[in-house]
Amino acid sequence: MAKICPLFSGSQGNSYYISSAGNGILIDAGRSAKQIENALAANQIDIDTIRAIFVTHEHTDHIQGLRVFSSRHKIKVYASYDTMHTLEQMGVVNEKVDGNEIDSRGVAIDGMLIKPFATSHDCIGSVGYTVEMSNGVKVALATDTGIITDEIRRAITGCSAVILESNHDIGMLMNGAYPYQLKRRILSDCGHLSNDACSKLLPELVESGATRFILAHLSRDNNIPMIAENSALYELAQCGMKKNRDFTLMVAPPETCGESVII
Ligand SMILES: [Zn+2]
Ligand SMILES: [Zn+2]
Repeated sequence: MAKICPLFSGSQGNSYYISSAGNGILIDAGRSAKQIENALAANQIDIDTIRAIFVTHEHTDHIQGLRVFSSRHKIKVYASYDTMHTLEQMGVVNEKVDGNEIDSRGVAIDGMLIKPFATSHDCIGSVGYTVEMSNGVKVALATDTGIITDEIRRAITGCSAVILESNHDIGMLMNGAYPYQLKRRILSDCGHLSNDACSKLLPELVESGATRFILAHLSRDNNIPMIAENSALYELAQCGMKKNRDFTLMVAPPETCGESVII
């Protein structure tokens, strides 16, 4: 059994708890340490079960509480070589004390094998992660990526549960109030994944064994949870796949803590 709890998701902050058999990890710590502690408590998650924090990249919405939370609870931090270097320069992580670089071979921690894969984002060394439990259940997280690269597709294919970015509705973004340059950045290959791009990937993930989806990192300004969900359900229905029969689907709420998904 594995448990996935989206503590925070979206441009205001990201943090996910993933656990199996009493051992867990956090992916990202993008709210204040206090907010993360409160979210864990609200979900009856014991902080002592967190064996490590894995960081996807150095943008504030992924590391805001990292320094305080990791040092207060003495939890090791893992990130790609480039991200770790940046975090060290930013003074967020003291690499010699609590920082660990992770490469494509991954790292095994208390019955979980965590492996990074490169994402296509506007910073060097950004990654997503797969977490494989000792019973074979595999969970993937892929957010903050402008496109689904072959590497991402390979990494998340075959996972039972996938946390996938569904950042924006293209029409809302194009017609919204963001400055032109920001719109271009979000829409670029190194930006964020649209509802359309996310939705189009889901049927093949179901065919490869995925049964749980969490749509994540929704834009507060350029998306609405119901639009993201309907877009995903439409594409899945086109392939004859039905919610709660072939898969479950949850939208990680942008402002509050999401429900846990058990697999
Ligand atoms: Zn980012
Ligand atoms: Zn982000």
